Amino acid sequence: MPDPRELPIYEIQAALLDGVRATGRVVVQAPTGSGKSTQVPQMLLRAGLLERGQCVVLQPRRIAARMLAKRVAQEQGVRLGDEVGYQVRLDSRVSAKTRIRFVTEGILLRQMTFDAHLRGVSALVFDEFHERHLDGDIGLARALQIQQTTRPDLIVIVMSATLDAGLLQKYLAPCTVVRSEGRMFPVTTEYETHPVNPDRDDIWDVAARACARVVARQPPGDVLVFMPGAYEINRTVNALQFQRELKDCLVFSLHGEMAPEEQDRAVDRYERRKIIVATNVAETSLTIDGVTAVVDSGLARVARFDPHRGINTLLVERISAASADQRAGRAGRTAPGVCLRLWTEREHTQRAPQELPEVKRLDLAEVVLTLKAAGIDDVANFPWIEPPDPKALARAEELLRDLGAVAWRRIPNFKGPNAKSEAEAGGPTSITEIGRRMLKFPVHPRYARMFLAAEEYGCVRTVAMMAALTQGRTFWLRNVDRGVEQAREDLLGTETESDFFLLMRAYRYAEKANFSVDACRRLGIHAQAARQVAPLFDQFLEIAQDEGLDIAERRVDGVLVRKCVLLGFIDHLARRLDEATLRCELVHKRRGLLARESALHGAKLLVVAEISEIGGRAGEVNTVLGLATAVEEAWLKELFPEDCDESITTGLDPNTKRVTARRERRFRDLVLESKEGAEPPETEAAQILARLVLAGDLKIEAWDERVEEWIVRVARFAKWFPEMEAHPIRDEDRATLIDQMCYGCRGVKDVRNLDPWPILKDWLTPEQLAALETLLPERIEMANGRRSKIGYPKEGPPVISARIQELFGVEKLSLARGRVPLKIEVLAPNQRPLQVTDDLARFWREVYPEIKPALSRRYPRHEWR
Ligand code: ADP
Ligand code: MG
Repeated sequence: MPDPRELPIYEIQAALLDGVRATGRVVVQAPTGSGKSTQVPQMLLRAGLLERGQCVVLQPRRIAARMLAKRVAQEQGVRLGDEVGYQVRLDSRVSAKTRIRFVTEGILLRQMTFDAHLRGVSALVFDEFHERHLDGDIGLARALQIQQTTRPDLIVIVMSATLDAGLLQKYLAPCTVVRSEGRMFPVTTEYETHPVNPDRDDIWDVAARACARVVARQPPGDVLVFMPGAYEINRTVNALQFQRELKDCLVFSLHGEMAPEEQDRAVDRYERRKIIVATNVAETSLTIDGVTAVVDSGLARVARFDPHRGINTLLVERISAASADQRAGRAGRTAPGVCLRLWTEREHTQRAPQELPEVKRLDLAEVVLTLKAAGIDDVANFPWIEPPDPKALARAEELLRDLGAVAWRRIPNFKGPNAKSEAEAGGPTSITEIGRRMLKFPVHPRYARMFLAAEEYGCVRTVAMMAALTQGRTFWLRNVDRGVEQAREDLLGTETESDFFLLMRAYRYAEKANFSVDACRRLGIHAQAARQVAPLFDQFLEIAQDEGLDIAERRVDGVLVRKCVLLGFIDHLARRLDEATLRCELVHKRRGLLARESALHGAKLLVVAEISEIGGRAGEVNTVLGLATAVEEAWLKELFPEDCDESITTGLDPNTKRVTARRERRFRDLVLESKEGAEPPETEAAQILARLVLAGDLKIEAWDERVEEWIVRVARFAKWFPEMEAHPIRDEDRATLIDQMCYGCRGVKDVRNLDPWPILKDWLTPEQLAALETLLPERIEMANGRRSKIGYPKEGPPVISARIQELFGVEKLSLARGRVPLKIEVLAPNQRPLQVTDDLARFWREVYPEIKPALSRRYPRHEWR
C-alpha cells in the first residue's frame, strides 16, 4: 500500500485542523481521489480532536460506507469493526471501541431523531455533499441546530468533490473553507458519431464495443464502464465476453446489490488489465486506482417524484453534464486518460448542466415525517439549506394527514381530518402513533402505511410486490391492438377486484417467459419494466424482513390486500358518478375518468394508484385514473371511522322551489351517496326561505307600504312614549320576524302568500298595541267627521294632508292629547299644497283671509267660508 500521506489532502491538513479548532465548521473541497473520505477522519483522530468520542462519516451509499471503513481499518492496522467500523441498513460492524464510523445518511438521521444530544459523537463529516441528497440536507441542518443548542463542541465538516462552496459558506457561516486542487491528468473525451438507437442497439453492446476499441489502442490501464443499474451491468459483463480484443482482460461488476466479497474483488489490483462495470457509486464515492479509460453510458437510475403515482419513482435517466465530467475525471487519476461517451457531441449540449438537488425533485413526505418525529413540526421554517417549493411541502403535509401519519393536535369536537374547525385551528401538525410506526420502514410513506397494514393482515409479500410494481416504469405498453387485448384476457382471465392482481399475474407470466421481449409483447408488457420489478421486490422484502415482518409465502385473502391498498392510497379514493360513463369523483374535490384499460369497470367505489393527466384531441386535459382497486364502503367505516360522516343537508330544489332534505354519506369531502330524504326539519326550511327573503330574492306579497309605515309608527311610539316600554323594530329584528313568519313554510309559494300581520302585531303586547292605536292612530277624525290618514315620517312630527274644506271649523289638531304635535299640510282643491303649518288657528286668522279671494275666484264651485 502506498503511503497515504502522499495524498494531496495532506497539503491542506494544517488549514483544516486550524479551521476545526477555530470555528468548529469546515468545508473541504478537493477532487475525487484526494483522500477526503479516508484521511480526514484519521486526521481528526490523530490530532486528538475527537477526544473520547466518535467521528461519524456520512455516505450516500451503503457500498461506499462499507468499503471506506474497510480501507481505513486497513490503514490504521486494526480489525474492521473495532476502532473503525460501519453501519448501514441491514449490516453493521461497530463496537464499543469504534472511533471512526461510516454510516449512510438515513442511519444518522434516525440517530438524530431520537437523540438530540448525539451522545458519544464528537465530529460529523458529511461526505459527497455535492450529491445533495434529501437526507444529507436535513442531516446537516439538524447538525447545525444541535451544534447551536445542546452541543456547541460538535465538529461539523462538509466535504465534496465539486461543491457550490458559496452556498455552503453562507449557510455554515461562520466557517472555514479549505480547498485542494488535487492532481489531475488530462482526459481526452470522445463522442459517438451517431446517436445510439435503443431499438436497434442495446446500450451494453455499444459499451462492449467501445471497451474493445479503447483496449486495442490505449496503453495499459484499467477500464471503468458506467451503467445505470445491476441489470444493465450484468448484460454488459455478458456482452464483454463476446469481444475478442478483451479476452485477456478481467471483468468485474460493482454495484450495491452484490455480496461484499465480490465488491472487494472488483477494486483489488491485478497484474492483468481489468474492466470494472459499475453504477455511479464509482463516480465520486469510491476511487478505483489504475483506471485510465472510462466508458460512459451516460445513464443513471434517478429517484424523482412522479405526480401521477404520488410517489418517488426510480427510473433510468440521462445524467447531467456535470456528472458526466465527474465520470470522465476517473480516467485521469494516475496518468493521462481517455473517456468514451456513448452519445453524440450534439446530444451532449442538450443535457442538463446539473442535476437538481433532491429537495427540489423528490416527494418530501418521508422527510417531513422524520422531522416531525424529531419534534420539528413547523417544517416550513426549518433551516433548509435550500428551501423546498412551498407547494411540495403542502402536498407532503396533506398526504401525511390523509395517511393518518400526522394530525393537528386534538381539539374538542374534532371530526375528520378535513373538518373546518380543525384546519382553522391551524398551525403545524404533529406526528401520530401511526406515523411513528410508519417511520420504521425506510420507504415512501404510502408503502410504509401499507406495510403496517400488511403486518396485521399477513400479506407482506403481496404488498412488497405491489410496491415494486408501482415504483418502476409503467408495466403495460400503451395503445395495444385488439389482438393483444384478447391475448391478455385469454391468458390472465378476468378480474373484478384489483388491477394489481392482473398486473401480478402478468408479471408471473413475464417471469416464466424469462422476460423475453417477444413473449412480453404478445401481452403488451414492457419487458424491460417487468425485468426491473424483481430487484425492487427483493429490496422491499429485505426492508420488511429487517423490521421483523413475516415475509413467508402464503395464500392471501384478496379483501385484506385491497384494504392495504386502500390504506396506502386513501387520498386517491374515487366514486363512480354513474354507470353509463367512466366518470369518477375523488376526494379533495377532484374528478377523473377511470382508465379504459382498467378491468374494474364494474366497481362503484375505487382506490386508484395512478392519476395521469392526458391531453385530449381537442386540447382538453383528461384526468385518467389507472391501476384501480375495488373497495367497499364498510371498509371505510372500519378503517377510518372518524372520517365517515352521515348528514342531512337541506336546500332549495331549483325545480320545485321547495326546500328539500338530502341524506348524505361522506368520506372526508367525497360524497358517497346522496339521497332525497323525507321532510326537512322545519327550522332549517324556515332559515333557508328567510335568507331568500332577506336577500331580496323572494317577496312576501302582503309585506307592503302599510307594513313599512307600521314599523315606523312603532319606532316613533317607542321614542315618544318611553313609559310604554315598546321596542323599535331594527334591521336585525326584521330578520328574526321574517324567520318566524317563514316557520312552517316549505316552499317559495308558501312564503309569497304569507300574512305578515299576526307576527308583526305580536311584537307589541296587547296593551302597547292598544296604546299605539289610540296615541298614534293611523287616521285622525276631523271636525267634519272625516278620517284623515296621518303620515309618520322617520324624523320630525307626524303629518296630515287635508284639503282646505276638510279643515273648516278645525282650530286645533294634535295627537295624544297634545303631547305629539301634528303638522298640517293644507291643500288647495286641486290637491296642491298651500301651506304647511302646526298652528291652524293662526292659519285661519292670518293666512286664510289673504288667499281666500283668489281661491274662491279660481274654484267657484267649492265652498269658501
Ligand atoms: P476522496 O474521498 O477524496 O475521493 P478517498 O479518501 O476515497 O478520496 O481515497 C484516496 C485514495 O486512497 C484513493 O485515491 C486510493 O488511492 C486510495 N483508496 C481509497 N480506498 C481504497 C480502497 N478501498 N482500496 C484501495 N485504495 C483505496
Ligand atoms: Mg470520497
